[in-house]
Order: sequence, then structure tokens, then C-alpha cells
Amino acid sequence: MRATSTLSLVTTPGASDRVATRIVWGMAVGLVAGILLRTLFERVPGAEALFGVLPESAHVSGWLTTEVLDPFGQIFLRVLFFVVAPLVFGSLALGVVQLGRLDRLGPMAARTFALFGINMAVGVALGLVMMNLLQPGRGLDSEARSRLVAQAQATAQARDLQAHAEKEPVRVTFATLVEMFMPRNLLQAVVGSERGRLGDVLPLILFALLLGAAGTTLAEGQRRQLQEALEVLNNLMLTIVQFALRLAPYAVAALLMSIVIKMGLGFLNQLLLFVVGVLGVMALHLFGTMSLLLKLGSRRSPLQFFKAITTVMVTAFATSSSNATLPTTIQVSREKLGVSAPTAGFVLPLGATMNMSGTATYEGCVILFIAQVYGIPITLGQQVTLLALAVLSAVAVAGIPGASLPLIMGLLGTFGVPPEGIVLILGVDRVLDMARTVLNVAADMVTAVIVDEHMAAENPAPGGGAPT
Ligand code: ASP
Repeated sequence: MRATSTLSLVTTPGASDRVATRIVWGMAVGLVAGILLRTLFERVPGAEALFGVLPESAHVSGWLTTEVLDPFGQIFLRVLFFVVAPLVFGSLALGVVQLGRLDRLGPMAARTFALFGINMAVGVALGLVMMNLLQPGRGLDSEARSRLVAQAQATAQARDLQAHAEKEPVRVTFATLVEMFMPRNLLQAVVGSERGRLGDVLPLILFALLLGAAGTTLAEGQRRQLQEALEVLNNLMLTIVQFALRLAPYAVAALLMSIVIKMGLGFLNQLLLFVVGVLGVMALHLFGTMSLLLKLGSRRSPLQFFKAITTVMVTAFATSSSNATLPTTIQVSREKLGVSAPTAGFVLPLGATMNMSGTATYEGCVILFIAQVYGIPITLGQQVTLLALAVLSAVAVAGIPGASLPLIMGLLGTFGVPPEGIVLILGVDRVLDMARTVLNVAADMVTAVIVDEHMAAENPAPGGGAPT
């Protein structure tokens, strides 16, 4: 949920840019090499058997993809898998424990959290509607789809997938919800019974929230100790995510190469439609929902607001990090939007940590897209659950580049979609990270403006936004 200066690998704009550039290079190399090799294997007789060196029946392309490229790409994915459980647990529990301090802030805290929640929920809902309308993941021919499923074959998730496709979609009822969130055996559910699959994330989310809530009732000294311990856990996990991101350019190259060799370029149309859909819904949420919130909740003109925050949006876009943008966010809110110091000091750091409107929107879109690609139905009832979970897990995302990836993998597993499917969007994730960070930060500033006006109206003294 939060990143500190110890996370220096890619949180500094320079390092972050280098990783981003390398990922784009990795994508280009993977695509070009994949196209060349696929053309070679398809068009040049004998290329598959290395021009007679191997027996006719040998398939070099199959060996190259399953024995070399996929395992190489898996190294990156597995590092992310490693951190899913501790990161989900640590960041959510930390978020709740931190609230222990905030309950004294009364009305300001209540308004802030309500606006954070509304903003994220509306974003996810818009994203889900967009993905349902566009259906970017549909349209893969069945051969391409079965190759994709085969790609994840070695894992237990693939077996689940098969079982899932064969049975009726699960209806979300009160009883199934209790079952999903509250297994009899928490540890076993979270650990999972097989090496090849992630454990359940939902019971972990609930347990983290419970532990956090219990933590707020501790004596102040103990609560601080717990908070510090969770901060250490979180920082460690986030540093591991940053290690993984260093591998990302090479993994993206290997995985894209493998996908292109196996599936051709057909899936690129799907990917393009997905990117257009995500950017479209983010623009709608940014300029539509935020303008509406400003109109309903404040006296500020949306046009004036967006003009004032241009620098912040550019910084968020360039750094892909709400945390790295925070100093600019605070400065612009104070100087250009006239937000009082106490409101800016309260809402904005909290927002950079918790209010991830763009990330929540993105999470919903990714889950639906990958499920569509794999041909896994996600019913309306499940989409309602997805909405709530996307909001919750976005709260757990740190304000640094790529921080949502492990959480998205956890969510994929929860809906019976192979977490490996994340490779399909990795190549475009960075660009969409830049876009979602703009939305994350803009939503913080909208909240600050509305909360500040309300606090000032209630307490017209100078610095009226101050909590008492
Ligand atoms: N990069 C995002 C932010 O800093 C978090 C994410 O969605 O990965 O706001």
C-alpha cells in the first residue's frame, strides 16, 4: 500500500524511465523475432527440423517456446507470484492499522473515504461496461485459444480451467460468498494445496482486514509497533516487485516471442482493442465522472480545474507513480487550486496511498479481457463481486510503477482465470500504467477540492479545512 524511499530502484523518475524504455524495447524485439521465426517455420520447408539435422517429426518451434522462452518468462512471473500473498496481507492490514490515527479526524476522514470509494467504484463499473460492450478478448479463433490454454497447461490452474469450462458458471449467492471469504481452514485455503497454483486470495483479504481492525484497538505503542512491522513487510515485498520489474524487459521479449510463434499476430488486434477500450474508459472517467463530481460537490469549474492540474497530470504520466508525483500534487493543490494546508496534508498523501481510481478501473478491465481471451465466462453476479474486489485490491496497490501486477494476478486466480494470462497485457501495461496513474492522482485532487470546500463551509474561520 505504501512505498518509502527505500524503494529506490524504479521509484525515481530516471530509473523508472529506463525500465519503461527497456520494456518497450523488449516488446519490439519479442514481436520482431517472433514474426521472423514464425515466418521461417511456416514458409521455409525443413526449418522446423533444422534443415534435416533433426528427424522430420521434430518441432523446433514447440521446443523453443515450451522449453526455452516460456520458462524464461516464467522466472519474472514467478517472482511476482511469490509476493502476492504477503503483499495483499501486509498492505491491507497496514491500511486499516493506519486508520487508527485517522478516526479522530471525523468528518474530514468520512468525506474523504466516501469520495475515494465512489470514485473507484464508478471507475470499475465504467470499465466493466466498456469491456462487456467492446468484448476485446473475444474473436480469437478456437485454434489460437486452445494454444493459449496449452501454454498454461503444465499448471494446476489449467486443469481448473478445463473443469471451469465444463461446468455451469458459479452463481454468486450469500452461501457461496460466505464459502469464498470464510473457509473453515484459513491457512490451508491461503497456502493452496498444490505447488502449481496460487492459494485463495479472498480469505486472505478478509483476514488482513480483521487483523488491521484488531490492530486499531491496541494501545498506541503496540499499534505503532504493528504498523511499523507491516510497513517493513510491505517495503520488502515491494522491493521484490521492483527486482522483478528489472527482469520485465527480457521476460516480455521472451513471452511475446513465444506468443507470436504460437499464435501469430491475430491476438494483436485483440490487444489493440483492449488498449483503446481502456484508454477510452479512463478518459471518460477522468473528464466525465470527475467533472460531474466537481459540479455536484463543489463550485469549481471542471475546465479551470483541469487547466490548473496540467503539470500534475504530466508528472503522473511521466513517472507512472502517484508517490513520485505527490510533492507536485500538494504544491499545485495549494497554490493553483487554493486547497487549505490541513486538507491537502490529509487528503493527498492518503490518496496517493489508497485512492487508486485508475488502477481499480484497470483491474476490472484486465480481468474481463483475459477471461474473454481464455473463453471463461464471468457472470453478472461475479462482475459485482469483481467490482468490490477491484476497489479493495486497488486500495492495496502502492503508488509506484507496475505495483498493481501482483494484485491483478491474485484476482485472476480468484475468478478461475490462469494468472499466467497476465503476459498478454504485459507489453502494453507500461503505457496503461502511465494513463491510470494520471487518473489516480486526478481523483485525489478532486477529492481534496470537494472536501476542502465542505470543511470551509462548515468552519468559515481561516484555515477552515482544519480538522479539530
Ligand atoms: N502506477 C500506479 C500508481 O502509482 C499504481 C499501479 O496501478 O500500478 O498510481
